[in-house]
Amino acid sequence: MSDNPAFGFDTLQIHAGAAPDPATGARQTPIYQTTAYVFRDADHAAALFNLQEVGYIYSRLTNPTVAVLQERMAALEGGAGAVCCSSGHAAQIMALFPLMGPGRNIVASTRLYGGTITQFSQTIKRFGWSAKFIDFDDPDAIKAAIDDDTRAIFCESVANPGGYITDLDAIAAIANDAGLPLIVDNTSATPYLCRPIEHGATLVVHSMTKYLTGNGTVMGGVIVDSGKFDWSASDKFPALSQPEPAYHGLSFHKTFGPMAFTFHGIAIGLRDLGMTLNPQAAHYTLMGIETLSLRMSRHVENATKVAKWLETHPAVDKVTYAGLENSPYRERMSRICPKGAGSLFTFALKGGYDACVKFVDAVKLFSHVANLGDTRSLVIHSASTTHRQLSPDQQEAAGAAPNVVRVSIGTEDPNDLIADLEQALTAASA
Ligand SMILES: *Cc1c(COP(=O)(O)O)cnc(C)c1O
Repeated sequence: MSDNPAFGFDTLQIHAGAAPDPATGARQTPIYQTTAYVFRDADHAAALFNLQEVGYIYSRLTNPTVAVLQERMAALEGGAGAVCCSSGHAAQIMALFPLMGPGRNIVASTRLYGGTITQFSQTIKRFGWSAKFIDFDDPDAIKAAIDDDTRAIFCESVANPGGYITDLDAIAAIANDAGLPLIVDNTSATPYLCRPIEHGATLVVHSMTKYLTGNGTVMGGVIVDSGKFDWSASDKFPALSQPEPAYHGLSFHKTFGPMAFTFHGIAIGLRDLGMTLNPQAAHYTLMGIETLSLRMSRHVENATKVAKWLETHPAVDKVTYAGLENSPYRERMSRICPKGAGSLFTFALKGGYDACVKFVDAVKLFSHVANLGDTRSLVIHSASTTHRQLSPDQQEAAGAAPNVVRVSIGTEDPNDLIADLEQALTAASA
């Protein structure tokens, strides 16, 4: 009952996946701080290990607190199931792991979080995987980049940091024609503002570290599976469609149907990669999600006010917030995230790189940090920090040019935020 899909978002964000604790009646989800679970008897243990019965064995794979968060995220995204993991970057590796193999590639948008560009352009090469970065506003270029070794299409709904919104419907149509899963990183939008599965996404990944927890306390990631992809339609996804030797030749897709990806993520992904979310972090994240819609509407309201004010400031060259009337992505916003474009955007200073550095040194209420999606307002100069590993072209494409600062607008009084920006802009132009 607690995840009745007929319930509204505001109800699901508080109740989905949760029930009073069966042992004690505790109303808040307890932190099950345990590594192992006592088996009823030897047969029970064997059934669990054979995946014939679903239950708790060891917290690297499953934990009751984490399980509530998994169900809640699946409900909020409208997916069939979800797997939590230790960070957003872990979620990305865990999402690709069942799809990829040596020599396989993904086609990814150029407009991604800087850390993701580094993970995809450098680190995944160690597994023999590769990524082709394409301008996702150019459908022909995406189609041309897909080859026989491509196993997924990857993009962000609202891209971090450039104020860019991906045309998810158009990208999903291309992925669908090619028989490939579309993976959407929905971190910056959250399921309150955008539901990628409704636009054709196969998998949705999140850094829960950001808006979902919402207060900058814990790291976490999640992969939500739509349950809609036919992993057996081609021979491209043997990990999901073919017999798995470690489980007596069981095929995940045949046995678990729409839950194949989720079960594989737990039974193989977490078991062998070990990128497990701890129950304490799951608890903080569940607490955060209870107020997600309230925070996101306030984030959007504040970001709109601040972006409009910045547009009129003489030291500011350009503001990229997709929620502004003159944004080139305004039409996409009305389709993809009609409740707003989040609270993350960049603005360019006329004074260039030097003014940006002075600006981040001068803010007082804003914090100069590498995080985003906090109740507190945050600022960073991406070109000298999160995006410094990238080439100038990559920085430009990712919306992190040297003359640009990124802000994550919090839920404080917007007048106090504007006052802080005003004094820092004055200091930066001095
Ligand atoms: C932060 C972030 C990530 C990485 O998440 P971590 O939890 O820091 O590992 C991935 N994608 C986006 C859009 C992010 O903002």
